[in-house]
Amino acid sequence: MILGLSVALASLSTGCKDDPLGDEAASASTGDSGSADTHADTGTETGDAQCSSGTPQELADCVDRDRYVADLEFIAQPRDPGSAHWQEVQDLCFDRFTEYGFDVELHTYATGVNVIGTKLGTENPEQRIVVAGHYDHIPGCNGADDNASGTAAALEAARVLSQRDYPRTLVVACWDEEELGLVGAEAYVDAAVVGAGDQILFNWNFEMIGFTDDAPDSQTVPDGFELLFPDQVQELEANQYRGDFVAVVVDEDGMAMIQPFMTYAEGYGLPAVLLPVPADLKNSPLLADLRRSDHAAFWELDVPAVMLTDTSEFRYANYHCATGEDAVELLDHEFSAKVIASTVGAAAESLGL
Ligand SMILES: [Zn+2]
Repeated sequence: MILGLSVALASLSTGCKDDPLGDEAASASTGDSGSADTHADTGTETGDAQCSSGTPQELADCVDRDRYVADLEFIAQPRDPGSAHWQEVQDLCFDRFTEYGFDVELHTYATGVNVIGTKLGTENPEQRIVVAGHYDHIPGCNGADDNASGTAAALEAARVLSQRDYPRTLVVACWDEEELGLVGAEAYVDAAVVGAGDQILFNWNFEMIGFTDDAPDSQTVPDGFELLFPDQVQELEANQYRGDFVAVVVDEDGMAMIQPFMTYAEGYGLPAVLLPVPADLKNSPLLADLRRSDHAAFWELDVPAVMLTDTSEFRYANYHCATGEDAVELLDHEFSAKVIASTVGAAAESLGL
């Protein structure tokens, strides 16, 4: 996540494997978005068949926390653009997308390299759903939360979602140079939407999905936040400002796509706070804190998109290694797995299941 301008909002006074999520999550699995009733928390009934032909809920249950953590641990080392580990992570994205059967492109633009995988839809291939996270980071910081978590999440979502066909086309991506100003995502959106005329229906953006703190008063909000989100601030107050939720920052046009996510999150026992951004404000500099990741590149061209985030420095002191290493050991992997699973289920629905 790129650096924020803390005064922005204030001036407004004018959100397949066996039992990957653990017993608690699996047994809490409910909801009307899929047939969760057959899922057993022993894992014995969740086999490869359900991961390759199952319902969105069954796909969601195929998310494997251990695979996510292994990738997170590999990625979380300094990887500023052009560095050796930046290249290794780029190669990881390329190799995984290839292994999972995507048509993979190294999208080289003026200053960087995105890795993009495409799986064509069976009925409406012109309609695209993009699931992604940025893989670059600032120099000298491991960036476990920012954004090794989001990159590893995109890889695990790609693995699970790749296992079956959808009416719409699935695009998975690792963006470059987010930390330099959403450069990679903007290059992609320009080439795809403006250049090729692609019809992108929605972008799922993983941006820092690893840190939680359930202590009271561990969550802060941008100045002026209550002016735009009074109900959500009441929700935070009622929860004693615990930093235990995923923020779901979506533009108004993306609200229909995001509703299933909220249902899956509830089923997994994942606290989620929905932050709908008014259409006439989504590209305003007044909302800079809500535009600090690659989803904003989509908003700029009126493509609906969501940022799924732990809210960065509003909860996490080690954002950009400000007060210490942004380290894997500080992260909440169960939380991340629930975010990924909820996204997989909802993304499968957005792909036309
Ligand atoms: Zn960042």
